[in-house]
Amino acid sequence: MNQALLAKIGWRLLQREQGRWAQVLNAKYLRRCDILAAKDLQFQGSSNVWNGILHGAQVLSAGVKWRVGSGDDILFWTDRWLSCGPLQQFALIDLSEDMLQLNPTSNGQFSVKTAYSTFYLDEGSAKWKWDFIWKLHVPPKVKTFLWLLCHKKLLTNARRLKRKLTNVADCPRCVCPLESCAHLFKNCTATLAIWNRLGFGRVEAGQLMDDYDDWLLHNLNSRRFVVHGLPWYLVFIIFLWFIWKWRCKVVFDQNFLLPADPHLMIYQYAFEWFSACNPMAILPERSVVLLHWMAHLLGVCKVNTDGSRINSSGLIRAGGLLRDSCGNWIKVFSVNLGYGSVIKDELWGIFWGLSMAWDAGFRTVEIECDATSAVALLKSPIVSTHPLFSIINCCKMKIHEDWCCFVKHIFREQNCVADALAVKCYDFAPGLHVFLEAPAFLSDVLAADVRGAVRPRLVSV
Ligand SMILES: [Zn+2]
Repeated sequence: MNQALLAKIGWRLLQREQGRWAQVLNAKYLRRCDILAAKDLQFQGSSNVWNGILHGAQVLSAGVKWRVGSGDDILFWTDRWLSCGPLQQFALIDLSEDMLQLNPTSNGQFSVKTAYSTFYLDEGSAKWKWDFIWKLHVPPKVKTFLWLLCHKKLLTNARRLKRKLTNVADCPRCVCPLESCAHLFKNCTATLAIWNRLGFGRVEAGQLMDDYDDWLLHNLNSRRFVVHGLPWYLVFIIFLWFIWKWRCKVVFDQNFLLPADPHLMIYQYAFEWFSACNPMAILPERSVVLLHWMAHLLGVCKVNTDGSRINSSGLIRAGGLLRDSCGNWIKVFSVNLGYGSVIKDELWGIFWGLSMAWDAGFRTVEIECDATSAVALLKSPIVSTHPLFSIINCCKMKIHEDWCCFVKHIFREQNCVADALAVKCYDFAPGLHVFLEAPAFLSDVLAADVRGAVRPRLVSV
């Protein structure tokens, strides 16, 4: 009975009564625990009162059970919160000391990698999306730069302002008030001017994508090749690298002048790295030039022609078009020539181009063709025994009419419209076809020529 009465005092302590007696007992004996946890502890010099309360607490521990709420006050192993009593008595092994651990680690040891992934990369499945950067075949310093760029860690003015390294966040190369990574590499007008000269096209490169990360991933994972096996992703990375280099020069070197042909420097750097890594892929003594179709002076009619031959069947076709000095379309033709030899298709294309320019009333004409040998035949003395004597002679007679007529060789990259025509005219019936309106399949390539779209070509130096 006495123990039960003493247990009542213990119960009141458990209920956190705030009387002076309770404050004294709590302060003296229960600083770190409650009466149930303290019942087994022997306090040296404890008063008889306290020893009596502890005696009563033994009754309490048999009859008290926690109702689980937040769990903040319950000790999992030692408190009674199940009707079967403390769980500790059912443990199958000795309970070892509680220890802190960092998870997840492979060996239980602290690692910087684990700490970094735990504290900084907490974006779920997206957190490793840039890992592929380390496997790219690009110079190591560029790889590190790219890693920082993709994680938006480069010290652009927006970031420098955040770190109080500068007072302005403006773009140093245009009027934009915030120089972020997305602005610097994707949207800045100074960057776009260089980008357009690379000649890859804004649509192909996802330039119209709003999201900066999507744009980066789109280009870095591109499997397209720009010229002679040079992968686009490499040109793109070198482009980013140079944009950053030149941007820093603009900021920190007042005497810096952007190179006259920045796009060529980018291509050249990419080629040098690519040829060093792939010595069999390209010849080292070559370099890249960017080519585009060029309009002529006012009043001059420019005629582009091209031929096409299917080697397996021997079928030949030719096509061409007449344009004015602004690149406006005047007339398009294609001719299905049946069977024939190489060069014959090119010569027939030139012949029909000359004929149409003459018939249209032009008296200053420049013919452009991407077949070197065909142009050479027309510029050298004719040999009567040549198997193509007839068509060569017809062309020469046209050239020497009473007008100003030039025949010139250009590269295929400058002759894309005629090339597209020559290939397309396999769909047409035998004979000559003249188009009064520009065919729909030519609209994209015609527009590209008018705006001066460039195309890279590897040439011997
Ligand atoms: Zn800018």
